[in-house]
Amino acid sequence: MSSIFTKIINGEIPCYKIAEDDNFFAFLDINPNAKGHTLCVPKKEIDKLFDLDDSAYIGLMQFAKKIAIALEKTVPCQRIGMAVIGLEVPHAHVHLIPLNEMREMTFKHKVSLTPEEFETLSKEIRANL
Ligand code: 5GP
Repeated sequence: MSSIFTKIINGEIPCYKIAEDDNFFAFLDINPNAKGHTLCVPKKEIDKLFDLDDSAYIGLMQFAKKIAIALEKTVPCQRIGMAVIGLEVPHAHVHLIPLNEMREMTFKHKVSLTPEEFETLSKEIRANL
């Protein structure tokens, strides 16, 4: 069965999309640790990040870097944090999180945004890519 992220990439489940290229896809996390929390995902469905081949791994990091730079331009923050967890969704991904406080990296601190706020934020980030 396809992962929830494959369904998002294929447009079967909606998301607030940030960017995509031939191999990678970025969208806002629906349950963000901080405003702008974004997931960067390889389109090829592989569970664990460190099982990606070198080319996909390096490609994902290069893709995530572009998104992180746009995030930092968009969301007031001290810097962009990056995390790899994967305990919930078995489809490799990196979390990019605009940080002002350490607790924003804990995955216990959450913020809520309205659909309108998600939509506006995704537009603003895309405009800074
Ligand atoms: P992890 O697998 O790294 O532990 O966490 C998966 C992340 O994906 C979580 O931060 C969760 O909020 C996010 N997530 C899970 N399902 C969806 C979804 O359907 N849409 C979006 N945008 N994010 C999701």
